[in-house]
Amino acid sequence: VPESFNSLQAYAKDKLSHQMVELFEACQQQSSDLERKERCRARLQRDIQDIYAVARLYLTGSSMNGLGCRSSDADLCLVIKGTKRPDPIFVLSHLQRAFRSLSYVERTQLIRAKVPILRFRERGSDLEFDLNINNTVGIRNTFLLRSYAYADLRIRPMILVIKKWARHNQINDASKGTLSSYTLVLMVLHYLQTLKDPVLPSLQRDYPECFNPFVDIDMVPEGPKRVPPYVSRNQSSLGELLVGFLRYYATEFRWDKQVISVREARALPKTNSHEWTNKYICVEEPFERNNVARAVHEKMKFDAIKAEFAESYRILKDRKDLNSILPVRAVI
Ligand code: ATP
Ligand code: MG
Repeated sequence: VPESFNSLQAYAKDKLSHQMVELFEACQQQSSDLERKERCRARLQRDIQDIYAVARLYLTGSSMNGLGCRSSDADLCLVIKGTKRPDPIFVLSHLQRAFRSLSYVERTQLIRAKVPILRFRERGSDLEFDLNINNTVGIRNTFLLRSYAYADLRIRPMILVIKKWARHNQINDASKGTLSSYTLVLMVLHYLQTLKDPVLPSLQRDYPECFNPFVDIDMVPEGPKRVPPYVSRNQSSLGELLVGFLRYYATEFRWDKQVISVREARALPKTNSHEWTNKYICVEEPFERNNVARAVHEKMKFDAIKAEFAESYRILKDRKDLNSILPVRAVI
């Protein structure tokens, strides 16, 4: 039995919470998964340095932020320093050709999104990589999210279950106009920050020196090491927090008037800035302050997202003791 399981028991007295812990224990990324990703990253970095001698490769996203599951892909950021910013598409096309000679890479695919990526697999496995060029904000926010993930024992199981819930209900795919995992995580953190007894503070506000947006990228992984755990008065169980999260977005949050700001640990009023006007969902990127939920641009998709919150909340809300039949399976 993992150590975290024992201490989580305090928040898992009811059946729903207990099931959340079980799902978390079964799905969370294992250290062997991370080691495999790390081995591949190191090998790729060596091979890429044959072309770009000064380039450095960073693992980002859920592989590194504490919120990954066994099946999560590995996000990579290639940092090429220098005064002249290279064109990402140019670099990625170059790498795509060069990767043909690597025995451990297969199925490369160049994706021309707002942040262009090269997607590929480790040969003969189901491990998928998404590589971007110089999107360094992703390194900074990965280590910010990591600090939130470990600030309280409940965060990681709570987020992992909500990611499963969203995926199961087909509202967790930015390429199809719904929520990216990153947006969803910020939505969960925002809920936990704005409870009457908050489960989380704003770490950027309380430890500005650990999350200085201008610090050199090599120093970014040091930040979280200096953040102590947050001691919250809120002792809600995991199940109570899950139902509270669904209730908040089903009944309380004003999508048309509010912007989610994890940076400020509150909902900001929507201003007329072009970042927020005519957007269905507004979630502020903690460093760049742009809208991470801009993928949700169709009314139909927005309605589908709201409908999932409403429906799952309806199913769970009357199970007051959270002990009746109900399993998390009713919504996941
Ligand atoms: P999953 O486990 O589903 O792969 P993930 O945590 O890796 O989830 P993604 O939405 O795939 O989340 O994003 C990967 C990483 O890319 C995020 O952790 C974040 O660092 C960065 N990222 C994603 N979207 C944005 C954005 N709009 N602005 C800045 N960084 C982003
Ligand atoms: Mg990912």
